[in-house]
Amino acid sequence: MEKKYVVAFDQGTTSTRAIIFNKKGEIVSISQKELKQYYPKSGWVEHDANAIYTDQLQAFENVLKETGIDPSEIASIGITNQRETTVVWNKNTGEPIHKAIVWLDKRTTPICDDLKAKGLESYIHENTGLIIDSYFSGTKLKWILNEVPQARAEAEAGNLLFGTIDSWLIYKLTKGEKHLTDHSNASRTMIYNIKNLAWDDKILKAMDIPRSMLPEVQASSSDFGALDYNGVSIPIYGVAGDQQAALFGQGGHRAGVAKNTYGTGCFILLNIGSKHLISNKGLLTTLTCSLENELPNYALEGSIFIGGASIQWLRDQLNLIQQAAETEAICQSIPPLEDLYVVPAFAGLGAPYWDANAKGSITGITLDIGKNEIIKATVEALAYQTKDVINVMLEDSGSTMVALKVDGGASANNYLMQFQSDILDVDVDRPKIIEVTALGAAFLAGIKASFWTYDTIEKVREREAFFTPKMENQKRIQKYKGWQKAVERTKSN
Ligand code: ADP
Repeated sequence: MEKKYVVAFDQGTTSTRAIIFNKKGEIVSISQKELKQYYPKSGWVEHDANAIYTDQLQAFENVLKETGIDPSEIASIGITNQRETTVVWNKNTGEPIHKAIVWLDKRTTPICDDLKAKGLESYIHENTGLIIDSYFSGTKLKWILNEVPQARAEAEAGNLLFGTIDSWLIYKLTKGEKHLTDHSNASRTMIYNIKNLAWDDKILKAMDIPRSMLPEVQASSSDFGALDYNGVSIPIYGVAGDQQAALFGQGGHRAGVAKNTYGTGCFILLNIGSKHLISNKGLLTTLTCSLENELPNYALEGSIFIGGASIQWLRDQLNLIQQAAETEAICQSIPPLEDLYVVPAFAGLGAPYWDANAKGSITGITLDIGKNEIIKATVEALAYQTKDVINVMLEDSGSTMVALKVDGGASANNYLMQFQSDILDVDVDRPKIIEVTALGAAFLAGIKASFWTYDTIEKVREREAFFTPKMENQKRIQKYKGWQKAVERTKSN
């Protein structure tokens, strides 16, 4: 049958979804299943890997049922996944030997301390682009080998396999035929060398991880095997970690393009091209999605702990608004602020200040300041924090930035987007489709299937709104200086 669709499997931290896209890049149908979170101890977070697989198949079945689409009309599958979450399974039975350890899980902090004590910090930073942290997969894998009875012996006998969620899904969907991952996911494990694009023997040795457990790494848009669905073979042609998939979905395959996802926190990635470099201001270096027969680019990654969360704070703690969306009209209704800044350092200050003990502040309050001004300053803080991170990215990389592509809940706020463009002095580009992560995975899969070509992507990703800088340069400089001063006052010492 004629191929009319590409399906994205979007396996996230809290839900598992299947999304069908048509040739125009429009969403035809979405099915979603909530994923149960397990918190066995303080700081521990786990998922049931088997449930992830069955939910994924179920979600797929649901979209097919709802739409009446025949599996043979689907050109290919693209997988995008929560990154870093770690699964170890028995290669003979296909059964996980432990629950999946989720990226949020902090149990491996002592293993991280041990690696630091061994003096591996700078080697790991230079070669994996990451800092030693429990967030990444490597120490989670080591924990399973250390703690699950017989695990190390079984691993050494070649009976165990490791994978992030993408590898686990590929393995299950191909009935154990393929043990693979892609560049973007491999670059989040802390055991993959992003300079020479290979698992890093020195780190594996230091962490006592047998190489035989590790998946083969290949281009994000390439052949990852096939799902046999009721006798129809549907190829898996795209695989990428969620943030990199979003960058790809936003058209961020070229150097100089950045994306910011304005959610509870904000995730910023800037494609810095083919030259490897590491940040000396605390940002991560990671691999972008790769097309077949092409090397991946590097991207700098930075996050903002408190993004939309500060808008929730206005709503839930201060009762200043009923809904986040109200903030846009409120911001538009009052004149520009003079010297009022809300620094939402509710979880310390992140890049580039790195002050874990800082607490939030409001500075520049005068008698005429009311609730609307506080709301506006809180919204503007998202833009200032984004500029802080992007400034470091540009300084570290010597890159210039051509555009900021935006997505996530708070990107719906037109005042915020215009202010972002003004403060950055860069065009801000918001797509029509907000599911850019799934779209990125679909693009990867569609390109390999010759369903789309790379050039058609820009057309498929329709722009919904475009914000160009309107603020006078002097004003921009003055406002940002004011912000930096407010941050200085917020620091813990
Ligand atoms: P997540 O995926 O992290 O749950 P979402 O992408 O769904 O987040 O975005 C939700 C966040 O965006 C919330 O923190 C909310 O306060 C904020 N938000 C949503 N709409 C707006 C808006 N119009 N203006 C400002 N913030 C908003």
